[in-house]
Amino acid sequence: MIFSDLGLHPDLERATKALNWLEPTPIQSQSIPVALKGSDILGCAQTGSGKTASFVLPILHHLMTKPGHGLRALVIVPTRELAAQVENCFKDCGKFTPLKVASVIGGVGYDRQRKFMSGGVSVIVATPGRLLDHLKSGRFKMDFIKYLVLDEADRMLDMGFLPDIRAIISRLPRERQTMLFSATLVKKVEEIAAFALKNPERVEVSRPTETAEGISQVVYPISQAQKTDLLVELLKATEMRSVLVFTRTKNRADRLKNRLSDQGFSVGILHAGRTQGQRMNAMDNFRTGRTQILVATDIAARGIDVREISHVINFDVPQNPEDYIHRVGRTGRAYGVGDAITFCDREEEPLIAGIERFTGVVFPRAMLPTFAYAIKPNLEPPKPKTFSGINFRRRPIARSRRALFRR
Ligand code: AMP
Repeated sequence: MIFSDLGLHPDLERATKALNWLEPTPIQSQSIPVALKGSDILGCAQTGSGKTASFVLPILHHLMTKPGHGLRALVIVPTRELAAQVENCFKDCGKFTPLKVASVIGGVGYDRQRKFMSGGVSVIVATPGRLLDHLKSGRFKMDFIKYLVLDEADRMLDMGFLPDIRAIISRLPRERQTMLFSATLVKKVEEIAAFALKNPERVEVSRPTETAEGISQVVYPISQAQKTDLLVELLKATEMRSVLVFTRTKNRADRLKNRLSDQGFSVGILHAGRTQGQRMNAMDNFRTGRTQILVATDIAARGIDVREISHVINFDVPQNPEDYIHRVGRTGRAYGVGDAITFCDREEEPLIAGIERFTGVVFPRAMLPTFAYAIKPNLEPPKPKTFSGINFRRRPIARSRRALFRR
């Protein structure tokens, strides 16, 4: 399937070309036709599968082709970071349309957000708490919402947003199209589906290679020289309960441990150069929460099974995709929620591309806005982007074999 098969508005098809998207991802080829005919969707897809555009493109299509004006679409997401990603996807896909999108998240002035209502915004991307504040105070009216998306529903449940979501939905018109996306369709998600959706069609893509469910994976482009400084800033800026940091070599692990200790963090170290006793000690301290951070190399980390690791940070991109899956599998065990962050210098980009092909997931790129970057980070995944997971590598090889036979 190619994008022109989907029958999207020409301005949207043009945007997919400008984004260099060669073909719809599997979740997109399943969801977009269902969404275009107006049915509700219960979608099971992970971040990185292209799920955002699978609801963004049909919503923009409806807004462009159906009569109406003002605020007509609402997307509810669990976190501010995801709100920014979804807002960007609307902006990228809608860049040749006159439609406007805005986000309503905590930490931003109420007045500015209220102005969206009179400013001709068609789509709002919101986190539940702040949106509900606006609704309760009567500052926002949602009387004309025709399209509702609940994105990463399982994560919203884990974060305790169920009552807020119920309260928001009860204030929306009943006549609407609703799409719910979740990385897992656990029972609780099905419960939200039961009150939010009407006769939904199920769309589902399974990942070719599984990392633990519920892990959000992100890449921070950063030069080698600034990796330590970025890590320190991130640790200060984000609430990270227990962090496992992977480096490529023992020396790098030692140096990083010293730098982090100098900054006042409680840090342990685990690599093959330490005695068995030292390693057991480091593990123990980490497991019981006496140290917040454990810096480790791959080999030493094989046996780690600490529950409740909130973050895995790949200070260096692992040399092979299996190591990536193994490292990232450390998080997301106890809570089903965890973050895996990978620092990627330009020279490591081919390694990330290999991991993305292997897992069938394109990781979102992110930056820390408060950090003094020496080189502006490139937040676009490398182009051209194709998206067929495992088949990705097979097709060009098959073609080149045919070429060989012809000769
Ligand atoms: P998502 O799963 O929505 O977070 O998307 C992950 C990444 O895939 C984002 O960087 C998108 O820009 C990218 N993407 C979405 N759809 C496509 C496509 N059809 N082809 C290539 N890349 C895509």
